Amino acid sequence: MWKPSTGAAMLTLCPGILCSLNGIHVTSSSSGLRVRGRAHCHVASASVSTEIAKNSAGLRGRTIGCVRGWSSAGRSQSFSSATCFGAMKSRSGFTSSGNGVDIRWIKTNGDDTSNQTAGVVYPSKSCKSKSCKVAVIGAGAAGLVTARELLREGHDVIVFEQTKSVGGVWVYDPEIEGDDLLGLSQDRKRVHSSMYASLRTNLPREIMGYTDFPFLPRDGRDGRRFPGHAEVAAYLQDFAEFYHLLDCVQFSTSVDYVGSCKDQNKISWKVRTRRRHQTDDVKEEQFDAVVVCNGHYSQPKLAEFPGSSSWPGVQMHSHNYREPSSFTDQTVVVIGNAASGEDISREIADVAKEVHISGRTWSASVDFSEPIGQHGNIWRHSTIECACEDGTVLFAEGGCVSADIILHCTGA
Ligand SMILES: Cc1cc2nc3c(=O)[nH]c(=O)nc-3n(C[C@H](O)[C@H](O)[C@H](O)COP(=O)(O)OP(=O)(O)OC[C@H]3O[C@@H](n4cnc5c(N)ncnc54)[C@H](O)[C@@H]3O)c2cc1C
Repeated sequence: MWKPSTGAAMLTLCPGILCSLNGIHVTSSSSGLRVRGRAHCHVASASVSTEIAKNSAGLRGRTIGCVRGWSSAGRSQSFSSATCFGAMKSRSGFTSSGNGVDIRWIKTNGDDTSNQTAGVVYPSKSCKSKSCKVAVIGAGAAGLVTARELLREGHDVIVFEQTKSVGGVWVYDPEIEGDDLLGLSQDRKRVHSSMYASLRTNLPREIMGYTDFPFLPRDGRDGRRFPGHAEVAAYLQDFAEFYHLLDCVQFSTSVDYVGSCKDQNKISWKVRTRRRHQTDDVKEEQFDAVVVCNGHYSQPKLAEFPGSSSWPGVQMHSHNYREPSSFTDQTVVVIGNAASGEDISREIADVAKEVHISGRTWSASVDFSEPIGQHGNIWRHSTIECACEDGTVLFAEGGCVSADIILHCTGA
């Protein structure tokens, strides 16, 4: 299961975008925004989106807001968020690498001379009463609540969603990313969801839902307090239906490019979309504002260790893990002792010969010599010292194992 991050409610807007725009009121360079969303919001997405929506009139032609959903860690607004784009650098355009973002380019005017840095965007008072045409990228937990709040304020909203359904990462996809199990190639087949078949939430439903749309058990559905992923997906679908959000979602449509255009002192955003699987169906539209809610769990982060590239066994990332059958009778090294590493290790230990968890955050009292788990076939180790061409994996504490598979449970 996923382990929530802790920390104050924050929204960090894309630095590369903001620093190249004029007229934005920025209050902080890196610490982001402490969300003061409406009191009814528990989940991060609700809180952040509320703030964005409240400020939306002032976003006209001025910014792109990035919204992260639901990294909730506490009863009230307690989550962390970060920028949506891992490697956005330049003022005049930047590629989105590193975070699994399908948007290829976001471009701002080169003639902009603002030296502001990233931070909080407040609305300009003069714009507050105007209705904006807003594009929301992504129909996950964050995109849905963003759309709801914007619609409530009378804005004209289109949500672009690359898949066929709402719910984002919670929509289980049995597909994996072809043979590229580590997600190394930028051109690989993309699968958004990292859910594995058995995943249940690691937060109780009372704090998983939007506060004004409680996540209650429903007849005939998964009523557990820590429900499975399908129940969360169904809840988000309920939310979308209840607020009639589906009418404004364009499914199977990915946003490939967002660029600002300046016309008589008014900045607007050009959004280029592509109908999935129909490469010739490319469209460009202008918007007053764009809110990026594209999630951040689909580009694997990998562990680095000597010998990794020449190690002969199979390496994969947990983003491409769905169920344990392919681990039957295998000796597996799992890198990462956080929530997904621990959870998946226990699941595959039911069928694997041996599971060796390599972690860097064990408590000082951990015993590397004693196996754990219900079958006594899980061992804990420190970090990997090196992986050898004969298949051996050496650990820093001195242990070693001849392994078949290395599974990176190292986040995204
Ligand atoms: C394995 C796992 C377990 C988790 N468990 C929990 C948990 O127990 N509790 C909890 O609170 N949180 C958990 N989380 C965190 C989870 O990410 C959040 O709960 C939340 O759902 C994120 O919502 P989001 O809208 O920000 O992103 P997502 O749900 O990722 O939605 C983003 C949407 O944007 C779409 N999109 C992306 N790029 C484009 C594009 N270019 N054009 C058009 N559409 C695009 C995607 O298709 C997707 O629908 C877990 C995450 C993972 C990966």
